[in-house]
Parts: sequence; structure tokens; C-alpha cells
Amino acid sequence: GLAPLAKRFTETSIKRLPPRAADSYKNQFGRVLVVGGDSGFGGAALMASESAARSGAGLISLATHPQHLPAALTRCPEVMAHPVISGQELEPLLEGPDVIAVGPGLGRAPWGEQLLARAGRAETPLVLDADALNILAGGRVLAGLRRDDWVLTPHVGEAARLLDWDSAEVLADPRAAATAVQQKFSGVVVLKGAGTLIAHDGGVDLINSGNPGMASGGMGDLLTGVIAALIGQHLSPLEAARLAVWLHGEAGNRAAEDGQRGLLATDLLPHIRRLVD
Ligand code: AMP
Ligand code: MG
Repeated sequence: GLAPLAKRFTETSIKRLPPRAADSYKNQFGRVLVVGGDSGFGGAALMASESAARSGAGLISLATHPQHLPAALTRCPEVMAHPVISGQELEPLLEGPDVIAVGPGLGRAPWGEQLLARAGRAETPLVLDADALNILAGGRVLAGLRRDDWVLTPHVGEAARLLDWDSAEVLADPRAAATAVQQKFSGVVVLKGAGTLIAHDGGVDLINSGNPGMASGGMGDLLTGVIAALIGQHLSPLEAARLAVWLHGEAGNRAAEDGQRGLLATDLLPHIRRLVD
């Protein structure tokens, strides 16, 4: 049932993934590339890639700072971690994937700017989050780019930067803010918070799932991985955004049965796995 979806701005039924055929092969479930994790910011990129893995992506690669390779391989050896020290080195990794998620732990230094500049022009659907959005907001990288096949996932502060508004203005009218970001950049805009808005070319949806235990670091990075994995499994960017936001919030609710305070982003992973089927 769709009862947990609560209020919606538009008539929206959330499309789920179909069961897997008996003769399924990993190539059918998407090759996801996660780009992020500059020196000192490794955790976010690791969480996004593990989240993609737990959301059913067939093959996951991670392009990250060489410093994070041992941790990445130890934490989740299923993720193919590639060390990247320049935009040039990212180039061959952009050939293979069906979807690319850029931003978790990307930082705002030249390393992150170079990677976003390359990945942002790739001919595959994109999910942009975190510092990819902050760099985009700066206007020097991917200037003026509009894409129908990208999902932007700002929280209030990131949305404010993308619009050059104050955070208070975004909070005062989040629906107007989500719409304005979508009009500026096209694609699908997921304005995250206590109640998440999804703005697209057909309107704005509200998905109420989740709880205040999720106001802690890493939660958004997981969402990015879920969206990318669902696009890899052949949902459209909009369908993927809707299902991912609901799944992620519901996983947060189940994980919070052990308590809201002290809830860790990685606590959601087993629940995401149970819900994605
Ligand atoms: P980020 O700020 O990028 O880490 O993203 C935080 C994630 O947790 C988003 O998906 C939010 O919607 C979710 N979240 C944070 N605080 C709450 C809350 N109070 N209620 C419901 N969801 C929340
Ligand atoms: Mg975030």
C-alpha cells in the first residue's frame, strides 16, 4: 500500500521495482559510478556507494581520492574503488556506467571542480548532491547547463546557494524554492528536509517519510546512492527520486525503532535492502 506516502501535491503512485527474473544477470541492474571523497572527506562517498550496492545496483564503481582506497575496499569490497587524482584520470571511468552520482564528500577544491566538470558532461543520467551542488551554485563549473536527465538533491542550504536566496527564504516557501531550482536547472529536484519535495516538469510532489532521528550526518549520502541505483535499474529519474525518497525515509523509520537519538546513516542500510524488493 501507498498509505505511508501521506500527503502529495499531485496524484502520484510510487512505482516499485519488478521482481527479478530467474535468469537475471548483473549487467541488467545498472553500472553505477559514484564520484566523490576528496582528501579528508571519504566517508560520504563510501556511504553513497554502499547504499547503491544495498539498493540493488548490479555493479558499483567509486572514483575517489587514493587516500580512501584501503577503507573503501575493506568496508565494501563489492564496490570497485578507483583512485583518482585528476579529472584526466576520471575520463576512462566515465565510459562504462549507466548512471553517475557526483558530490558526496566531493569538496569544493580544484580536485572536486575538475571531477564535476568532466562527470557533468557525461552522456548518462546524473545524480548531483552535496558539494557538486555547491560547486554548481558557484557558476564557474557547468555554467548554464540544463539537463532533463539529472536529479539534483539539495537540502535547504544547498538550495539557497543554487538560487542565491537566503536559507530563511527557502524555508519560508520550500515549494517555490524547489520549483525555482527546477526551472533554473531543469531535470528533477529533490528538496530534502522533514518532508521532501520533488519538483519536476509536471509539478511538485511531497513525500512525508522519515523522522528527526535522520537529522544526522551521512543520511543524504545514502539517498544519493539509492536514487542512482534505481535509475540503474531502469526507473526514470523522476520515478527513481520518488521511490528512493520514500524507501530512504521508511528505512529511517524502521531503523529508528531502536531510538532516534544515535541513529546512524549506515543503520539504514539493512532496511533499505529489505524495502527495495
Ligand atoms: P543531508 O542533509 O544531505 O544529509 O540529507 C538529510 C536526509 O535526511 C534527507 O533525505 C532528509 O530528508 C532526511 N532528514 C533529515 N532531517 C529529517 C527530519 N527531521 N525528518 C525527516 N527526514 C529528515
Ligand atoms: Mg548532504
